[in-house]
Amino acid sequence: MTEFLYYRGRVALHAILRGLGVGPGDEVIVQAYTCAAVIEPLQRLQAVPVYVDIDRTTYTMDLSRLAAAVTGRTRAIVVQHTFGTPVDLDRVLKIAGNVPVVEDCAHITEPAERGPVGRTGVAAFYSYEWGKPVIAGVGGKAVVNDERLAATMREQYTAYTPPPSRREAVMTAQFLAHQVATELGVTWRLRALYRRLSRLGLVVGSYAADVAASPEYEWRMTRSVRRRLPRRTARARKQLTRRATVAARYRAGVTRLGFDVPTPVTPPLRVPVAVPDKRGLLDEAARRRLEVGDWFTTPVHPLTGADLEAAGYRPGSCPNAEWAAEHVVSFPVRADISPHDVERGLDLLDSPDAGEGPRILSGPFTDAQIRAVAEMHATEVAHGFLSSLGVPALEVLYRHVADSRHCALFLAVDGGRPVGYICGSLDTAALVREFIRRRWWVAAPALLPRLLRPGRIFRAIETLRYAQAGDDLPRAEVINFVVRPPVRGAGLAQDLFERLMDWFSEHGETAVKMVTGEQQRRAHGFYRKVGAELRGHTSIHSGAASRVYLYRTALRQQNPQTTP
Ligand SMILES: *Cc1c(COP(=O)(O)O)cnc(C)c1O
Repeated sequence: MTEFLYYRGRVALHAILRGLGVGPGDEVIVQAYTCAAVIEPLQRLQAVPVYVDIDRTTYTMDLSRLAAAVTGRTRAIVVQHTFGTPVDLDRVLKIAGNVPVVEDCAHITEPAERGPVGRTGVAAFYSYEWGKPVIAGVGGKAVVNDERLAATMREQYTAYTPPPSRREAVMTAQFLAHQVATELGVTWRLRALYRRLSRLGLVVGSYAADVAASPEYEWRMTRSVRRRLPRRTARARKQLTRRATVAARYRAGVTRLGFDVPTPVTPPLRVPVAVPDKRGLLDEAARRRLEVGDWFTTPVHPLTGADLEAAGYRPGSCPNAEWAAEHVVSFPVRADISPHDVERGLDLLDSPDAGEGPRILSGPFTDAQIRAVAEMHATEVAHGFLSSLGVPALEVLYRHVADSRHCALFLAVDGGRPVGYICGSLDTAALVREFIRRRWWVAAPALLPRLLRPGRIFRAIETLRYAQAGDDLPRAEVINFVVRPPVRGAGLAQDLFERLMDWFSEHGETAVKMVTGEQQRRAHGFYRKVGAELRGHTSIHSGAASRVYLYRTALRQQNPQTTP
């Protein structure tokens, strides 16, 4: 048995397949309901992925379909112990004949005493990034059982280099950020945070834009991960018993609620459960700040559309994998999950999201919902200054608005689809100050390139000056209000407005101002209808005239015309 350490799990898989001599046009069998990390190495080698559908209860390869997938061009079979459920390797080896079998052990804690898992095929690979049983930063390992393969790989390994030190530093920072988030107990937002930061270019994302050109496939494990790995592995092994207890609790609860769970393994990485309304459940989990996994979201996570087809997946070819992507959520099985956490997770299964019909949500919001708000702002307030900063900057802004105690954001959804929102602040000047203090480091990369264009700086300064200008008007104000065209006139605007005015009342505000661009005719009509007074005209940006309205929150109770 020989081990080789690589930059990450997929690099280890690539090295194994390369060692096996897999090249252009060769077929490699994989299961559908996997992630792009498994397919990237094949693309890099110009090999052809052949997808085998999964079993609906184990989420691993349906072995009754394996034999039919093997052809004269098959050069390897990759089996994946999905969520930690072991594949029946004896059966795989019988079907495989002379074709080498590689085990994807990314979801397995490598046992101290070696059992059949990870030791049966010619080689196995592990991954040590976030979300895996041993978290050591980004890294991967190949464990090679076949002596000939080991010899080839040893020779090839000499050409692998450590990652450049700049990358090493970024990866170390990411690992530390993960540790901090774990300490703070905010792992429920971690995935979304990474996605957001990687869109802003602040962290290295999980999937390469160009696999063929990526230098990562020639890198060894970073030095810091290599240093950390023995300690982190020992720690993970010590936690196995506690994790088994957590898994048993989930299993008992999930079975009691009438859902299927895979054959018990001790312990799985996650407990997968197929639910009727995955989207709704994940939204509800986010609202309750519960950590529930959405992967794999497609047969080759996270690829969709043309990217999925470019990965060689033919839509409709693996119906069980597509079904699982559509329905399966998973609960984390970590040592720090308390019985209370398990109960809260199970409660989600007991109360599926209400789903249909327009509803107004008050947060906490998922990142997808915040993005939807930013996109609505960009399209519906297309000519505004903030829209000119772009959707990523708006996302940062609205995330702040949603989380700040100076503000309220209400989002209208119809059948889960965001269709409008309203937001207001008790004190916009305080909000702006707080935003600059807390978010400059997230906002800067999105904002700076756009602000550094002629004219923009002046408008930004005007916006800040406006926010700080004191006058005889109330400080409480409606910051933004959007209802998408298809749902206008359905009373939704009224409902959103009411919710925000209720919030202002609860915070002791009796009067609220609304500043609306002169050309926003629908808004003027709406404010007149609800009984707001026109208090005058202003111009926030030189040359852009606006009307200022004042609304007395007490009006709502007295004026029946304004209640829907
Ligand atoms: C995470 C993962 C990998 C590869 O991991 P990286 O270290 O990110 O390259 C491979 N297979 C599966 C099933 C995984 O979940």
